[in-house]
Amino acid sequence: MTTRIALIAHDHKKDDIVRLAGEYVDTLRRCDIIATGTTGGRISEAHGLPVERMLSGPHGGDLQIGAQLAEGRVDMVIFLRDPMTPQPHEPDINALVRACDVHNIPCATNISTARMILDVLTLRLAQQA
Ligand code: PGA
Repeated sequence: MTTRIALIAHDHKKDDIVRLAGEYVDTLRRCDIIATGTTGGRISEAHGLPVERMLSGPHGGDLQIGAQLAEGRVDMVIFLRDPMTPQPHEPDINALVRACDVHNIPCATNISTARMILDVLTLRLAQQA
């Protein structure tokens, strides 16, 4: 079954997630990607990847992803949060990270962990090929 991965980044982390998606573009091409609105737009524009875009995070996009996750429809999450800037939708962010913990879904909130998740995913896909 195709891996469904959620990609989210706060504004100061958007360049990072676009760069990361570029590094792993071949892996991500073999996944279904779901993303918050602006993050998804940046990634698909930069790399031509198909992205299912939810609402922007502050408008409920994190909650939409959290709802899908709770229904078993998200396999992993990369959520590059900005730890230095208060976010208006902090409760939504916490809800999504909590949903990952409740449902035991891998959730990377920084680039190092994101790389580890994407490396494992890359290996798994190579074994399937
Ligand atoms: P965005 O949402 O990708 O629409 O900017 C991310 C967020 O702020 O949670």
